[in-house]
Amino acid sequence: MTGVADFDYVIVGAGSAGCVLAARLSENPAHRVLLLEAGPEDRNRWIHIPIGFGKTLHDASVNWLYRTEPDAATAQRKIMLPRGKVLGGSSSINGHVVTRGLAQDYDAWAAAGNPGWDFAALLPYFRKIENAPGFAHPTRGHDGPVNVETSKDLPRLSAALIAAAAQCGLAYNPDYNSGAIEGIAHCQRSLRRGLRDSAAKAYLHPVRGRPNLVVECGAQAARIRFAGMRAVRVDYRQNGVACHASARGEVILAAGAIGSPHLLELSGVGNAARLQGLGIEVVANLPGVGENLQDHFIARSVWKTTRAITFNERARGWRLLTQIARFGLFRTGLFSAGAAHMLIFARSDRTVALPDLELTITPFSVTQSPDFSGLDSFPALSFAAVPLRPRSRGSVHARSANSDQAPAIRPGYLAHEEDQRVTVAGLKLSRQLIETAAFSRLRGEEVSPGAQLHRDDELLAYARQTGLSIHHAVGSCRMGPADDCMAVVDAGLRVHGLGALRVVDASIMPALVSGHTNFPTLAIAEKAADMILADARVAA
Ligand SMILES: Cc1cc2nc3c(=O)[nH]c(=O)nc-3n(C[C@H](O)[C@H](O)[C@H](O)COP(=O)(O)OP(=O)(O)OC[C@H]3O[C@@H](n4cnc5c(N)ncnc54)[C@H](O)[C@@H]3O)c2cc1C
Repeated sequence: MTGVADFDYVIVGAGSAGCVLAARLSENPAHRVLLLEAGPEDRNRWIHIPIGFGKTLHDASVNWLYRTEPDAATAQRKIMLPRGKVLGGSSSINGHVVTRGLAQDYDAWAAAGNPGWDFAALLPYFRKIENAPGFAHPTRGHDGPVNVETSKDLPRLSAALIAAAAQCGLAYNPDYNSGAIEGIAHCQRSLRRGLRDSAAKAYLHPVRGRPNLVVECGAQAARIRFAGMRAVRVDYRQNGVACHASARGEVILAAGAIGSPHLLELSGVGNAARLQGLGIEVVANLPGVGENLQDHFIARSVWKTTRAITFNERARGWRLLTQIARFGLFRTGLFSAGAAHMLIFARSDRTVALPDLELTITPFSVTQSPDFSGLDSFPALSFAAVPLRPRSRGSVHARSANSDQAPAIRPGYLAHEEDQRVTVAGLKLSRQLIETAAFSRLRGEEVSPGAQLHRDDELLAYARQTGLSIHHAVGSCRMGPADDCMAVVDAGLRVHGLGALRVVDASIMPALVSGHTNFPTLAIAEKAADMILADARVAA
């Protein structure tokens, strides 16, 4: 086995969180930092062109391409669950949507026994992440590494949607990241001059030249090794060669909501009975590892439009050539499109206190290729209805001691009745919007769910048969106090009962936030870096 020299910090996973950690922990030249990433450098051009997220969804060279286990609640389908496997991780293949969620989401984390994780404590980190020149509110950041842009493309479609939303009681919200999220808004996106601004581009590449930072790509961690209860080494494979790296200071798992619990289990940290059943020697009995998995599940609806005002009709023939030129010259048009053009945050019911439903609106549709691989030939737009704070819970667990075997992922979509109700409410809200007088001149045929489906049970059955993940897996190494037997890490993100081992990524979220998860993960990593450096100062 090939060994690499001692490091102060060995970080596993160069995703959203791992890139932040590598950049912040290596700011002090006295700290030697190793960043291990299973995937390659982020050179694939579809990573950088916004519309390319539709391509990388299916590209095994940058994506783990997981699938869920079949589940009766979602018609026994194996639902695709992409995760970035490349520098930048999922931030290199995501839909670029920038949201923070609600202050109440984080306040609830703190109230569950995690001091320091309320929104007021996290706000400085949200500000530190971003450069949002278009947004003047004092809660926004203006000199951080990740650039935030808003596309004002397709103004006729946007104007019609804003007018339709107003007729449904949803006002235009110029900045849903500065407080109240309710209403309709142009989507804020992590782009810099029209190209993706991933965590790798924003945090890692600018510091690649630091002599105290080593980045190893194609390096898949297989096991963490312990001396007693202290993490001291990471075993990994690179180009078929078994290697290991020693950590004088800490091992930090940033392998994401699927990778981190999987690696903990492979290393003997998890439910003791489960691990013994797989023939894995138990280091620490932590039954919460891999439990509490949460994700946002979407039900899509698609309408044709009477006029050619969407991107579908621009994706073929000579019109495609003009779109290529537009993107090359102005960074606008079809190639600048991401997962959402506009967002709506709404309440599923008048009695609900906070928005609990999101509709993402995309100016194209993919009904003829359900895996998002090609746009429809007719002008159309899509809505995705997302219950913001799902109650359903699932799990992710190793199937065997073999680190190359993908874990079994059971997100539990639509298991909870409340998630079913909010999903149906979202499908109805998108119908209500399209059926407003304001949208009547653009309204074409309903492609899906289809005008023949009316009753709630019919709409729910449609969601079960066609719904997908919006790729926000979190919670599988949940943060919580020591007396919570299902908590995996404490409020310092240290793994309970073990030394020199932290988990810093989306998996530590106790509950999903009311929005998309990239910026919340970056904020977690910024805060974690501060905590790790503060602990190192105390120890010195
Ligand atoms: C297709 C897609 C679309 C999304 N769209 C949006 C969006 O529009 N807006 C938004 O806010 N969020 C979006 N998200 C979610 C968001 O990107 C993630 O929540 C966030 O990136 C998670 O960060 P992370 O650091 O926890 O994990 P990741 O960014 O997934 O990083 C984990 C890294 O660890 C590496 N790794 C895993 N196991 C190992 C191992 N054993 N050894 C070495 N390396 C390993 C992985 O290859 C990966 O690079 C999307 C996600 C996906 C996949």
